[in-house]
Amino acid sequence: MKTKTLLLATILVACTTITSWSQNDYPGKPPAVSPMPMKPEMTEIWEPEVKVITPGKKLGDAPSDAIILFDGKSLDQWVSQKDATKPAPWKIVNNEFMEVVPGSGGIQTKMKFGDCQLHIEFSAPDSVFSAGQGRGNSGVFFQNRYELQVLDSYNNRTYRNGQAGSIYKDHAPLVNAMRSPLEWNTFDVIYTAPRFKADGSLDAPARMTVLHNGVVVQNNSVINGLTYYVGLHNYPSAHGEDVISLQDHDNKTQFRNIWIRKL
Ligand code: MG
Repeated sequence: MKTKTLLLATILVACTTITSWSQNDYPGKPPAVSPMPMKPEMTEIWEPEVKVITPGKKLGDAPSDAIILFDGKSLDQWVSQKDATKPAPWKIVNNEFMEVVPGSGGIQTKMKFGDCQLHIEFSAPDSVFSAGQGRGNSGVFFQNRYELQVLDSYNNRTYRNGQAGSIYKDHAPLVNAMRSPLEWNTFDVIYTAPRFKADGSLDAPARMTVLHNGVVVQNNSVINGLTYYVGLHNYPSAHGEDVISLQDHDNKTQFRNIWIRKL
């Protein structure tokens, strides 16, 4: 009996040892090293110091690091889209805003941009005429290709992906935040340019976030390519930074207070 008990005890100890080896330990295992205790400063990054800028006095005013594209007084930052060696053919009214001269063609910036933050204010023509896409139509083209639609969408039904705040025929705005034709609207845009691989194929599509009168209407929307009027959108070829252009769509749309920050 004693022998049996001793044998059972020996087997039990052996099993326990094997179990404990297989779970926690094994012969020759290096001694455990306790992890270094974390301190708050270990996750603090100090350099380089974040650049200091001065924000605008009120919302919509340009901050100190913005490039002023239009201050109401001069079209010096713009040229004709028909002939980039010629001045922008639109008119300045009251040293306050510019107005599309129908038939004169679009205008484009002299400078080229990629990723950027753009602020632009627009107003539909003072007198309402026509309807749908014929009312206060213009557009802001990022990299001269991807159109953020400008339209008088105040009590003016059209296709949802073609109204003000749409990425033209690509993404409808989340809501219609349009003000009446005698009021000014703001667009605040955060634009991410598309990325291309070395072979010219698309690596990452462009993206756009838009606030229309302070209301989010595009939330980091993916742009599916050139915003064609006819046909499916795509990226036919790689490109780098390019101009921002404003569309002449035969309507006397008005613009003021345009500034941009490169990101
Ligand atoms: Mg348009």
